[in-house]
Amino acid sequence: MKERRFIFVTGGVVSSLGKGIISASIGKLLQARGYSITIQKFDPYINIDPGTLNPYEHGECYVTRDGMETDLDLGHYERFTGIETTRDNSVTTGRIYHTVIENERRGNYLGKTIQVVPHITDEIKRRILRKEDPREYDFIITEVGGTIGDIESAPFMEAIRQLKWELGKNCVNIHLTYVPYLKAAGELKTKPTQHSVKEMQGMGIQPEILILRTERDLDKAVLEKVASFCNVERDCVVQSQDLPSIYEVPLNMQKQGLDKAILRKLQLPCEGTPDMEEWRKFVEDMNNAKEIVKIAMVGKYDLQDAYKSIRESLIHAGVRNGKRVKIEFVNSEFITKENVAERLSGAKGVVICPGFGQRGIEGKIIAAEYCRLQNMPTFGICLGMQMMVIEFARNVLGYADANSREMDLATPHNVIDIMEEQKSITMMGGTMRLGAYNCQLLPGSRVRSIYGKEQIKERHRHRYEFNNKFLEEYQKRGMICSGRNPESGLVEIVEIPELKWYIGTQFHPEYSSTVLNPHPLFVDFIRAAAL
Ligand code: GLN
Repeated sequence: MKERRFIFVTGGVVSSLGKGIISASIGKLLQARGYSITIQKFDPYINIDPGTLNPYEHGECYVTRDGMETDLDLGHYERFTGIETTRDNSVTTGRIYHTVIENERRGNYLGKTIQVVPHITDEIKRRILRKEDPREYDFIITEVGGTIGDIESAPFMEAIRQLKWELGKNCVNIHLTYVPYLKAAGELKTKPTQHSVKEMQGMGIQPEILILRTERDLDKAVLEKVASFCNVERDCVVQSQDLPSIYEVPLNMQKQGLDKAILRKLQLPCEGTPDMEEWRKFVEDMNNAKEIVKIAMVGKYDLQDAYKSIRESLIHAGVRNGKRVKIEFVNSEFITKENVAERLSGAKGVVICPGFGQRGIEGKIIAAEYCRLQNMPTFGICLGMQMMVIEFARNVLGYADANSREMDLATPHNVIDIMEEQKSITMMGGTMRLGAYNCQLLPGSRVRSIYGKEQIKERHRHRYEFNNKFLEEYQKRGMICSGRNPESGLVEIVEIPELKWYIGTQFHPEYSSTVLNPHPLFVDFIRAAAL
């Protein structure tokens, strides 16, 4: 096996500095030099995974192809680098403890007292090193969630400290901090950075590269000061100033030589420059796109991060079409029959968003009806697709009480129903239909021509399904099933061929759109919206 190098990315001062974007950018720059990489996220919270977390707590829940519900940073990793992450790329304190406790019950440590050090830290180290993963990686990048000084992240820091000692030159510590600007003093302040580094030094870790997040350009003197106060070489201090788009971050890091600093620290040759041509072209196209296409996102979480992957997929698709997508969030809770036209006015296309539970669903159904009648390009995703289906049953098939079992246990017109195998499930966490499933596309359908192939595989995250009992009625009245699971016969895609673009997917195509490979459904949706 090739020798693996390890890069640790930690954060200090405050959260939300964009460690995920930085980790993804580092991955991208190393790939662009021909290296193979993977990126993993270690989160210090106790939940086994973020699957049961409310998006207000933790933003979107991202799903890997092998069906793990994970942190949204994995979405950045995949979108930036095109790598395929798996359940091994997302680890929480909960999972670490779960494994250790199971091992204890099995008798694996018989006779020993189980402690945070060494048992928990050993399990963290085992997962960081991925010795059982046979794939070849030149670099394994590990991002540690949370902020230095948190009680919860202490075992992760201890694991990193030990690994530096064990791996030596094969490992580098990168620390991301914040340099605030104090308006009243007219000054940029480096003290929080100094404190954060000191805190790490107190844990026995010397950051070797510092990335300073800042809203204002830092001049040389500031960078020099940080270098000398924190025991870091001058060219290992880089700034990450606010940029118009996250996709400019890798180029900014490259400009400042972050990739070179990393390679030097790992004692690897660093001649030449990374091949970022395709990426640069994407950023140029993004910045050159003038024509705006306004897309309304009908959902219930009024929070940027809640629909992260959909937002990014729309941006990728816009660039591919030479358009600038302007996303407008429309809260479905406040949509009524009376105001729907006004709420969606100006939109050239509408996305009906995924979600769980009752809140805001009637507004989604009203939006679906409006879009169908107005022949508006409309993309329903998961719960969004289910709402398209319910709307059609209520207003076209004539079942006024049509609903999903999720919302109404008693309706005889349960056009969205719970699957047989889901009925006996009592545990909430990790028990939905999760991960990638096959889908056979109908010859002659719109989706068949959009994908340009017959079989696709897309990721799922839901418990309820289209009820096949009603399928014939739907097809007769013009809403067809154009994608089906070949094994189970479950409906994966519905569309109304008569309309311009009215497609609902039970799966989440947004999880697999990347910068260099935008998802065909989103690309075609924006094309149709821009017409
Ligand atoms: N709540 C729906 C279900 O469980 C849809 C889930 C989703 O939109 N991801 O089937």
